[in-house]
Amino acid sequence: MVATALESLRAALPSGVELVAVSKFHPVSRLMEAYNAGQRIFAESRPQELASKVPLMPQDVQWHFIGHLQTNKLKLVLPYVSLVQSVDSFHLLQAINAWGISNGRVVDVLLELHLGAEETKQGFTEDEIRAVPAGLSGVRIRGLMGMATNTDDMAVVEKDFERIERLFLELKATNLSITELSIGMSGDWPVAVRHHATMVRIGTDIFGPREY
Ligand SMILES: *Cc1c(COP(=O)(O)O)cnc(C)c1O
Repeated sequence: MVATALESLRAALPSGVELVAVSKFHPVSRLMEAYNAGQRIFAESRPQELASKVPLMPQDVQWHFIGHLQTNKLKLVLPYVSLVQSVDSFHLLQAINAWGISNGRVVDVLLELHLGAEETKQGFTEDEIRAVPAGLSGVRIRGLMGMATNTDDMAVVEKDFERIERLFLELKATNLSITELSIGMSGDWPVAVRHHATMVRIGTDIFGPREY
């Protein structure tokens, strides 16, 4: 099941679009099915769940964090991840920067742009992202992440992705470290790949409905 799903996703995704397997709420046995089918990038959304899965999975897994991260949970997450996709406030960015400096690391992050989705207020506005200061030495801003409005209306999704794509291209033009645009989930990744997605975050289409 998982292997077949991964195979057809890989066949459908253009080269240059990284497949991030969203494994939140699935047991390690399911993650291992994906691992054995060649998947190496996994994403989790809860600090404790991430920290408990890391030691149970092979060492060459690359972990991404995609959930809301509170500053008192950094040490459960930052030692293990290659990318924090969900930096949604200056406060969090500054805390990660400070952690990076005191741990001798430069933490790769994406800034989350708040798109239409009314159910969450999470994320920066465009102007806040433009105002993020350069020269934080404990973080490297690699790009943007966004979640489209949760709707079946693909015209709305399209508008959301156009908005984040525009900001991505604007920032990329002047900042060499900005190369990543993480948009697209199970319902909408085909739209995302038409709007410069470099990463898609897919859970349900790989693992089926979440289990707990
Ligand atoms: C859960 C989640 C996904 C994956 O959602 P699916 O619809 O299962 O593909 C992607 N991105 C974020 C930020 C998530 O929290």
